[in-house]
Amino acid sequence: MEEKKGSQKSNELLRSTLLQVERAAAHLSLDAGILKLLQEPKRCLTVSIPIRRDDGSLEIFQGYRVQHNLARGPAKGGIRFHQDATLEEVIALAALMTWKCAVVNIPYGGAKGAIVCNPKELSLAELERLTRRYTMEISLIIGPEKDIPAPDVNTNPQVMAWIMDTYSMQLGYSVPAVVTGKPIELGGSLGRNEATGTGCVYTIEEAASHTGLELKGASVAIQGFGNAGSVAATYLGDLGCRVVAVSDTQGGIFNTDGLNIASVKEFKTRTGTVAGYPDATPLTQEELLTLECDILVPAALENQITVTNASGVKAKIVAEAANGPVSVEADEVLYQKGILVIPDILANAGGVVVSYFEWVQGIQHFFWSQDEVNRELRQRMVSSFRDVYELARREQVSLRTAAYMIALSRVEKAVSLRGIFV
Ligand code: GLU
Repeated sequence: MEEKKGSQKSNELLRSTLLQVERAAAHLSLDAGILKLLQEPKRCLTVSIPIRRDDGSLEIFQGYRVQHNLARGPAKGGIRFHQDATLEEVIALAALMTWKCAVVNIPYGGAKGAIVCNPKELSLAELERLTRRYTMEISLIIGPEKDIPAPDVNTNPQVMAWIMDTYSMQLGYSVPAVVTGKPIELGGSLGRNEATGTGCVYTIEEAASHTGLELKGASVAIQGFGNAGSVAATYLGDLGCRVVAVSDTQGGIFNTDGLNIASVKEFKTRTGTVAGYPDATPLTQEELLTLECDILVPAALENQITVTNASGVKAKIVAEAANGPVSVEADEVLYQKGILVIPDILANAGGVVVSYFEWVQGIQHFFWSQDEVNRELRQRMVSSFRDVYELARREQVSLRTAAYMIALSRVEKAVSLRGIFV
């Protein structure tokens, strides 16, 4: 039953992604054959991952690594651990990575990986065995010049360290550039852990200044309090916003005066969830998404805003810190309502931008200060936002369509310059 629900959702993301590309392509004069090529993943690897559970039993998990397009450089994208992951979902997420890297103009193609598992039901030792065996299985296609994984939903720097170690053990020397989002001690970049949330806030600042929204005192609702959501909450709070609602898988909390984010974070570290935080009232995911607020940040999973709730969204700006949180039909509803949606491929690109910085630093064995990282990140996010915003205004299209137009043109150009081999 759960399995079915998961795969229906995933197909929805794939459908939305393909449709979005078609929509943007309609505004460009792309070669029809190349467009067809851009709608297909280049390579999909499905692996079965046997591991010993702590009780000695053998369990087989399913894993994927998909490379969508390699025309602009090595494949790049995270690995998620999630019970609802499917191949279709990973294909869609890999395609999103291709467009994301292109829109912020970093020299990568797109990839994504997943292990179908509920990491909350596994011990740390089991997670390590699972990660290492998965890495062995996908070692056929990953590498610093081939495909570079990174963290995604439910994976973190520790998981990246296991991947780096497993890959390196096979070669007999350390290969830090095979993966990004590593711990600082192993060649990670300062600022990488916070980059998705920080980059998202840079785009919100731009959107606010373009639309005349005063961030001081602006009310914010954030769905998801993981790596992206919690960092965005902190930073928006620092800018003087009132973060009135946040949520995680176990529930949401609301305080009209603004939540004390440091204290909510501390509560979540202690209890595992934001739900039950004392200085707030409970609220459902649905209530959070349709809350009266200035800025809504969906920072959880895909397909959260759909045709069924899109008309209820009241925010002025929606910043997609998650991948694919708004369905293609819902996107149209939000556009008609005059809501400014900063699309995922732009809003959450900060993560992969600093991954790129980490990869470059690793290859050069020369590391930057936190200030340098953040300055370069801000510059990339701001100039990408402005290019997208400008095109959207000129063409009278949504920011998403404009972002896809820029991304598609760049990838199409690379494909046609390289040509089709025989
Ligand atoms: N998982 C992140 C994303 O969806 C980061 C990928 C990366 O850094 O390669 O963009």
